[in-house]
Amino acid sequence: MMKIRQKADVVICGLGWAGSIMAEELTRAGLNVIAIERGAWRDTSTDFPPAIDPDELRWHTRREMLQPMSVETTTFRNNTGQNAAPVRNWSAYQFGWNVGGAGTHWAGMSWRFTPWDFEVYTRTVERYGKERAKGMQLQDWGVTYAEMEPFYDRFERIAGTSGYAGNIKGEKRKGGNVFEGPRSRDYPTPALKDTHWMSKYRQTVEKMGYNPFTVPAGNLSQAYVNPLGVSMGPCTYCGFCDFHGCGNFSKSSPQACILPTLMRRPNFTVLTETEVLQVVKHDDGQTAKGVKFITKEGEVGFQPADVVCITAYQMDNVRLMLLSGIGQPYDPATGKGTTGRNYNYQTCSSVSGFFAGEKMNPFIGGGALAVQIDDFNGDNFDHSDVDFIGGAGIMGFSTNGRPIQNMNGLRPGTKRWGTEWKKGYARDYQEAGTIFCQGTSMPSQGSYLDLDPTYKDRHGQPLLRVTFDWNRNDQKMARYVTDKAVKIMKEVGGTDISVDNQAESSWNPYKQHSSHTIGGAVMGKDPSTSALNTHLQSWDVKNVFVVGASAFPNNGGYNPTLTVGALAVKAARAIAEQYVKNPGKLVGA
Ligand SMILES: Cc1cc2nc3c(=O)[nH]c(=O)nc-3n(C[C@H](O)[C@H](O)[C@H](O)COP(=O)(O)OP(=O)(O)OC[C@H]3O[C@@H](n4cnc5c(N)ncnc54)[C@H](O)[C@@H]3O)c2cc1C
Ligand code: SF4
Repeated sequence: MMKIRQKADVVICGLGWAGSIMAEELTRAGLNVIAIERGAWRDTSTDFPPAIDPDELRWHTRREMLQPMSVETTTFRNNTGQNAAPVRNWSAYQFGWNVGGAGTHWAGMSWRFTPWDFEVYTRTVERYGKERAKGMQLQDWGVTYAEMEPFYDRFERIAGTSGYAGNIKGEKRKGGNVFEGPRSRDYPTPALKDTHWMSKYRQTVEKMGYNPFTVPAGNLSQAYVNPLGVSMGPCTYCGFCDFHGCGNFSKSSPQACILPTLMRRPNFTVLTETEVLQVVKHDDGQTAKGVKFITKEGEVGFQPADVVCITAYQMDNVRLMLLSGIGQPYDPATGKGTTGRNYNYQTCSSVSGFFAGEKMNPFIGGGALAVQIDDFNGDNFDHSDVDFIGGAGIMGFSTNGRPIQNMNGLRPGTKRWGTEWKKGYARDYQEAGTIFCQGTSMPSQGSYLDLDPTYKDRHGQPLLRVTFDWNRNDQKMARYVTDKAVKIMKEVGGTDISVDNQAESSWNPYKQHSSHTIGGAVMGKDPSTSALNTHLQSWDVKNVFVVGASAFPNNGGYNPTLTVGALAVKAARAIAEQYVKNPGKLVGA
C-alpha cells in the first residue's frame, strides 16, 4: 500500500541551490515546506573536513560526489536522423546528487547575465535587423535585467560573493567589469587576489586596450556573515575547489550559506535519499495534487501539497515535466510544443601556452580565481562586420592546481611515460598558463529534449534523450573569440601554444567542455513558445513552478548559477506574495 504523507503547503523536488533558496524564502514567509532530495545529507564537518577535501582521486578523478550512472543517465544523439545511445560517463555535464546539489562542488564563478542576454531577440533585431536572427530560435525571456537586479542582489548577499563592481547605478568603475548591467551596490566581499599568471594576463590585456577585472567568486575573500546569520571564512586558495567540497567554510554553497538556518525552522522538513518519480495531477489536469516518490528502501509514497516546485536541475526538471505530462512535448519537425524546447549547451574553447623558467605556482588556486575581459562578450562590441551574434568572456584562470588533472597539460610533444615524462611534468606544472573562453549559445529548432523511446532507468521510467549539435552561429562566434584568445596568448609571451575549440567538431558528451546545460522548460510571455511564465509557473498546470537553468531560452557567456538563484528568489516571492493569496495564473496569457 502506498504511504501517504501529511499534506504540505509546498513540496520542493531537489534540494540544490534552487531548492534551498526557494525553501528559505517560503519558510520565512510562514509556509510549511517539505523538500524531497534524491541524494544523501552532506555537510562540511562530516564530509569535507580539510584532511579529506583535497582528495583529488576520490572527488575529481572518480567523481565520487556526482550522481552515479547506475542511478540514472541520459541518452544522446546529434540529430533526429541518429539513434540515441546511453551516455556512460559524466564528462560534458555532471549531475549533483546530495543535499546541496552541484552547488556543493561547483567552482563558484558568480555571474549576472548581461541586459542583452534577457532580450536577445528584440535587441538583436533592433541593432542588426531581422535577417541576423535567422536560423536560430531566438526569444526574449519576458523579464529585463533591471527587473532581475534585486533578485541577483539577494543571491549575492546570501552567497557572500567576492568581486568589485564595474557599474553602480550607471556609474562605470575602472577595475570592475565596465560592461556589466547597472548594480544597486558593490559585492558583499572584495575581489580575490591575483596569482602570478593572472597578473601577467591582466597587464597584457590592459596594454592591448581591453578592460580586465577579477571574476566575481563564490570563493570568499574575507570572513563574512550573511543576512541569514551564517558565518563564512576567507578562502585559502587551496587549489582543490570544483568537484570538491570546501573544508574551510569559504565556498558559497547551500550547506555553507542556507542550510544551517533552514534546518532549524520548524516549518521545514527534508526527506533525503528519496526520489520524486512524478508530479501527480488532479483529474482535470489543471493542477497538481502532489508528488509520487520512492525511498532508498524501495518504498513508494505520495506527498500531497498545494504547490509543487520542481528544482531538480535543468535536465531533471524537464524530465520530470515530461514524465508527469506537464505541458505539450516539443516537436522539432514543426517547432510546436514547449516542454523540451530550446535545449542548449555552452560554447567553450581554451588556449594553453608555456612560459620557460617562470613559476606559476598553480597549487595556489580557487574555483573561480581568474581575470577576465568582457570586451568580446554578449553584445559588448559592434557585430555589424561579423556574421554571428553573441560572444565570450576571455579569462586567464588559476582555478586548480590538482596534480593528477594537470598531467594532461604538458607541452605538445612531451613523452607520456618514463623519465622524460617526469621531467616534462615537473617543468610544465609550473610553466603553463591557460586562457579560457566561455561563450553564449543560441537555440535552434533541431536541438531539444524528450523521453527516450527505448532506454529506461532502474524504476522503469524512460531516460531523458538529448538531441544536440552546435549551430552555425555558435561555431562562427567560437572561432572569432578563440582567435582573440590566441592573439592574447602570443602577446603575453606564451610558446608551444595549443588550442582546443570544441565547436570545431560535432558535440559529443565524452568531452568536458562545461557543465552548463540550459533550456527545455523556458520562460517567456508567449505560451506558444515558452513552457513557463515570467514567474516560472507552468502555463498549463498552475500550481507547478519549475526553477533552474531549464528556464533560460538562450545561454549567456557566463556560468549560470547566479541567474538560477535570482530566478529562484523571484519564483518563491511570487508564490508567497501572490499565489497563496490568490491561487491561479499569475500572468495572463
Ligand atoms: C564541477 C562543476 C562546477 C561548476 N562550476 C560552476 C561555476 O563556477 N559557476 C556557476 O555558476 N555554476 C557552476 N556549475 C553549475 C552549478 O553547479 C549549477 O548551475 C547549480 O548547481 C544548479 O543548481 P540547481 O539547484 O538548479 O541544481 P542542482 O544543484 O543540480 O540540484 C538539484 C538537486 O535535485 C536532486 N534531484 C534531481 N532529480 C531528483 C528527483 N527526481 N527527486 C529528488 N531529487 C532530485 C539532485 O540530487 C540535486 O541534489 C558547476 C557545476 C559543476 C558540476
Ligand atoms: S579554493 Fe577556497 S573556496 Fe575553494 S575549496 Fe579551497 S578554500 Fe574552499
